[in-house]
Amino acid sequence: QPSSRPRKPDWIRVKAPVGAAYSETRQLMRRLNLATVCEEAACPNIGECWTKKHATVMILGDVCTRACAFCNVKTGMPRKVDPLEPEHVATAAAELGLEHIVITSVDRDDLPDGGASQFVKVIEALRRNTPKTTIEILTPDFRNKADAAVEAIVAARPDVYNHNLETVPRLYPTIRPGARYYASLRLLESIKRHDPSIFTKSGIMVGLGEQRLEVHQVMDDMRSADIDFLTMGQYLQPTPKHAKVEDFVSPQVFNAYAAIARAKGFLLVAASPLTRSSYHAGDDFAKLRTA
Ligand code: SF4
Ligand code: SF4
Repeated sequence: QPSSRPRKPDWIRVKAPVGAAYSETRQLMRRLNLATVCEEAACPNIGECWTKKHATVMILGDVCTRACAFCNVKTGMPRKVDPLEPEHVATAAAELGLEHIVITSVDRDDLPDGGASQFVKVIEALRRNTPKTTIEILTPDFRNKADAAVEAIVAARPDVYNHNLETVPRLYPTIRPGARYYASLRLLESIKRHDPSIFTKSGIMVGLGEQRLEVHQVMDDMRSADIDFLTMGQYLQPTPKHAKVEDFVSPQVFNAYAAIARAKGFLLVAASPLTRSSYHAGDDFAKLRTA
């Protein structure tokens, strides 16, 4: 059957997930009963990251209450929250020797606090067990529980608070139907209001049919909300059931976006076809802190 879909270009090349360090990372996650976004989101960087023992833990289970059109995570009725999860995350950080850890979660619209208290417990367990590890959290939008959730999480003082806008506002109804663009922006803005010392971060995928001017507008909106770090990567369709790739954005266009983003005042910008929220997050953050 003929397909109108663009072919995957040469610049989307990924390293195969093989080797001892990769297997050790995998075994550790299994032993501690931890899910990772690396596996659940079918991240193309898993070969590279896990070989370096970088992994992004996904707390609150591996089943999400939402079904975003770009995301490979399972949708359904989530399991009960694992009370041992915070200690297990801290054990994983210690055993992997992580200088920087990224913690994310599925959306838990079923929980009274949206899962915010589990983020707090994970941050506290990490501070107790691996006090030198810098902590980056990547949270859901917490829907109508956002104010209380942000207040509780910010009080636990993560180093970086990330929440992704994912795409331009025009594409929300098809790509991110359970969310509201301005609610996500407001969430990000409120972090700085509570604690200006926490770095804020957000990101979008490109290749979903957005226009360049729309991307520039998202950057402006982010800067108006005082967001410090920006990530931009190529959307890749995880399965044929997901939103299709409209176009493959060339590395040159990514470079142009990055230059514009720096000019707009972001402190850290990562923009390339394989950039993901957590890709090289620790290295980039360490460079910023020593700069
Ligand atoms: Fe995991 Fe992030 Fe690396 Fe992807 S980029 S493999 S999600 S750590
Ligand atoms: Fe995936 Fe997050 Fe959407 Fe759930 S809310 S489907 S984990 S992107």
